[in-house]
Amino acid sequence: MAPLLGRQPRAGDDTFAGVTALLLPRLVNPPDGDPGLYVSLAHEGSALLFDLGDNQLLAPREILRVGHVFVSHTHVDHFIGFDRVLRLFLARERVLTLYGPQGIARHVEAKLSGYTWNLSRDYPFAIEVREIGPVVVTRARFAASTGFRLEPLGTLPFDGIVLDQPTLCVEAAQLDHGIPCLGFAVQEKARLHVRPEALAAEGLTPGRWLTQLKRDVRAGLPDDALVPANDAPSDRAAYRLRGELRARLLLEAPGQRLAYVTDVAFTAENARRIVALVRGADIFFCEAVFLDIDRAQAARRAHLTARQAGSLARCAGVRRLEIFHASPRYATQPGALAAEAGAVLQGALAPDLPGA
Ligand SMILES: [Zn+2]
Repeated sequence: MAPLLGRQPRAGDDTFAGVTALLLPRLVNPPDGDPGLYVSLAHEGSALLFDLGDNQLLAPREILRVGHVFVSHTHVDHFIGFDRVLRLFLARERVLTLYGPQGIARHVEAKLSGYTWNLSRDYPFAIEVREIGPVVVTRARFAASTGFRLEPLGTLPFDGIVLDQPTLCVEAAQLDHGIPCLGFAVQEKARLHVRPEALAAEGLTPGRWLTQLKRDVRAGLPDDALVPANDAPSDRAAYRLRGELRARLLLEAPGQRLAYVTDVAFTAENARRIVALVRGADIFFCEAVFLDIDRAQAARRAHLTARQAGSLARCAGVRRLEIFHASPRYATQPGALAAEAGAVLQGALAPDLPGA
């Protein structure tokens, strides 16, 4: 598939491998606006949000679908939107989980302590913060009922996966932007398609048991357990081995993979970690702040050029690259950043990797 750069969603984006896609991503702002990625989860009525810069282009109902927010770092263009999210959620019975690099809990605490909460003690809303360090994830909770006082919740080991749900997981990588900065990838778990002809051949009727079978297979439950093969099993004959049903009725295909990387220095270690995180992504959302002619300025600002973003995408073998975070200095050269990144992806410009 030809890589497409810096584009907005269009018809057909909601399908993947010929069926409705689970992950429906879109940049929160145009490429020259604040960084941010909104990933709607089809059929689940929920969403993931990456970075908290200006988010006025997201409707309140879209923000309220978000259960998990992933913050790369707390420079102002990645965190100024925290207040709008807070205000939308404040009176709701919800827990918002916010993931960020080391120090994020202190930044959340400072944001929250900027307001007065004497009339908010009845609100059930809470924020759970997870600081992603190189070795451990440190958890803390801020509840409206306590005036958003920090409550430590202990630590968990960090193994690269920060969110693990039945249909997807979110991975994080520790990157360097002069300060710790996180890159993220969303991996949809194996897609399971029912083979209707096999179902008919077995004399089986779809129902809740089939939904449960798919859920069990995604969860990795053992093949050698007996499970029902209809919704009202009356005798032992209505039970079959899970592995037998799985093999006969289900087709398994790899799920979608998205990656989101922004605000990173072009160093050998960052490049190694980014390529590992992004490898095989269907869509790689990557910053491209400067043209390569301004690479010295990019290095001073610990950002990527379009050529560098294209090089990382090419090394990682992504199917599509979408760039964002364009410097306003190129406002009079629309398309120049995308053209440079695209030239690397299409082989017209040699990839450039640090230390290569
Ligand atoms: Zn930054």
